[in-house]
Amino acid sequence: MPDESILLRPEQAASVTSASSDDERRRQIRARLSDGRLGSVESVSKSHRGTGQPCIVCYRPIEPTDVEREVAGSGVFFHTHETCYKPWREESVARRAATARALGREIARRSSL
Ligand SMILES: [Zn+2]
Repeated sequence: MPDESILLRPEQAASVTSASSDDERRRQIRARLSDGRLGSVESVSKSHRGTGQPCIVCYRPIEPTDVEREVAGSGVFFHTHETCYKPWREESVARRAATARALGREIARRSSL
């Protein structure tokens, strides 16, 4: 069963997207995903109130006033702000899609030899 809570309605997406800082955060996320410093979001997550743990995306503590996302990794849990989680998840999905396309091209190239 998909985790419905992670899906954004368009009107919510518009309200949480703030131009330049969001772009900057995405750039950092993309850079860290590509050199392996940040794992990609593979699984569903749950959200709860912040517990003061540092965010994996922005390194700032997740305060009790913030919503914290808990993402299951391989044997560990990653903690991230709700606002950091969204671009992280989107970039992870985009990266997987790009990897799949690159693999598809490689397979097509080999089979044409
Ligand atoms: Zn954060």
